[in-house]
Amino acid sequence: MSTNKDTESDIVLIGAGIMSATLGLLLKELNPDATIEIFERLDSAAQESSEAMNNAGTGHAAFCELNYTPEKNGVIDTSKALDICEQFEESRQFWSYLVKKNIIHSPKTFVNSVPHMSFVWGNKNVDFLKNRYNALKNQPLFNDMLYSEDKATISNWAPLIMQNRSENDKVAATYMNLGTDVNFGELTRRMINHQASQNGVAVTFHSEVYDLTKTADGRWKMFVKNIKTGEKRIITTKFVFIGAGGASILLLKKSGIPEGKSYGGFPVSGQWLVCKDEKLAAQHYAKVYGLASVGAPPMSVPHLDTRFINGKKSLLFGPYAGFSTKFLKTGSYLDLFSSISTGNIGTMVGAGMDNMALTKYLISEVLASTDKKMDSLRAYFPEAKTEDWRLEIAGQRVQTMKRDKNGKAELAFGTEVVNAADGSLAVLLGASPGASTTVTIMLKLIEKCFPNEFKSAEWQAKFKEMIPSFGLKLNNHPELLKELRAETSKTLELKY
Ligand SMILES: Cc1cc2nc3c(=O)[nH]c(=O)nc-3n(C[C@H](O)[C@H](O)[C@H](O)COP(=O)(O)OP(=O)(O)OC[C@H]3O[C@@H](n4cnc5c(N)ncnc54)[C@H](O)[C@@H]3O)c2cc1C
Repeated sequence: MSTNKDTESDIVLIGAGIMSATLGLLLKELNPDATIEIFERLDSAAQESSEAMNNAGTGHAAFCELNYTPEKNGVIDTSKALDICEQFEESRQFWSYLVKKNIIHSPKTFVNSVPHMSFVWGNKNVDFLKNRYNALKNQPLFNDMLYSEDKATISNWAPLIMQNRSENDKVAATYMNLGTDVNFGELTRRMINHQASQNGVAVTFHSEVYDLTKTADGRWKMFVKNIKTGEKRIITTKFVFIGAGGASILLLKKSGIPEGKSYGGFPVSGQWLVCKDEKLAAQHYAKVYGLASVGAPPMSVPHLDTRFINGKKSLLFGPYAGFSTKFLKTGSYLDLFSSISTGNIGTMVGAGMDNMALTKYLISEVLASTDKKMDSLRAYFPEAKTEDWRLEIAGQRVQTMKRDKNGKAELAFGTEVVNAADGSLAVLLGASPGASTTVTIMLKLIEKCFPNEFKSAEWQAKFKEMIPSFGLKLNNHPELLKELRAETSKTLELKY
């Protein structure tokens, strides 16, 4: 039954996190006449995973994340690192475009130069890091990387990690001054605020999309409830993006699209140790990533991180992974159970059985006492004192459980766009590398869901205007890479 509150919109975006914010901006730049509605269940944008303290704020460019360069039979596979680095260059260009066009301003409030370091100890790990460095250093994207086994040099890069280390400890580090810390929450809010001021765009908070169904004419009917007033409305749209973060899997199930039937979600919670001593925090200026423990999900690699949040420099260590059945930090403990259906139970059981190391790791992390957490921190910062640190809850991640191309159930650690065959609905699943690579993820989504417009001369020209390297691999165009890095660092007020 329709009411006078029922409306139509060309595009509906569910959730006001960085994914919806980026997609909405891209689509509005490509088609200024498009009407867009954004629904967010909380009272403002970016309060779940995209909020600064809920994620690590690393501008993932594969400079320091060792899990992006696996070693097989002594050979380092650099393909994933190159791919992620190319994607981050697209993010830099898009954010620069937004600043140049005055769509967002004051870049220092959301992106800052912070060197990215990898740090390891022990002969085997030092050999790995050296091999990794040798495999990357001649790639134009990674030319600026430095490597050292010299304790004085590493101490100069990051003094806290070298304090009170035994002379006999073999250590090694790489250093990339091109690294960044990104306040994805601030960036998201700026993008959403801009959209809210545009003709044809409505951003509605406290509004939860609780169901959706396909209409006979191939559109989507969305059922929305105002959480504060209980008021309900229906909105019909030609295209819907489910950018509900961890809760996306629940709406994917409700959509009933066959492409989503076998997908499941596995929630992983997180915690940080936050340094309370500002003088101590001031002594560290880097994001120092190490190697993950056995069974740990890749994004649970421990790191000692300089952060810039609300103009203040701080120091964080973590994340410590944990287990909770919620799909959002503000979600329900029933989330995991309500995501199980006959379509995905096989996938979930199969992926669970195959990942006993992860289960064991999560149990050990949940049971870890503060002393044990401090011991992990001391592996990176030997002089750390318990009284200088406090524990904070990080965002909730939902890892994707799916069938691989041979039908085998697996737990996937990347991000993945699942879309209806007719391009009328798309959903983002997964967590990593996440926010850093949103621009590339959304460009791929646009190609899948708007194939004709994507190929048009008009949209192709706009892509090039927003992302000058669009369609090129910068690693194969070193001169252009140099030019664009110089230009984007100037616009974004970065040091490098
Ligand atoms: C601990 C941790 C560390 C991370 N570190 C990094 C990092 O260093 N670098 C990096 O690039 N990425 C990192 N990530 C990943 C990154 O945070 C995410 O990929 C990104 O924020 C996801 O954005 P999103 O818009 O999909 O989701 P979210 O930011 O979670 O937004 C989803 C929104 O949808 C809303 N919503 C949910 N259901 C509904 C509904 N039914 N109706 C209306 N609204 C709804 C939610 O309230 C929320 O506001 C990290 C994540 C975590 C958890």
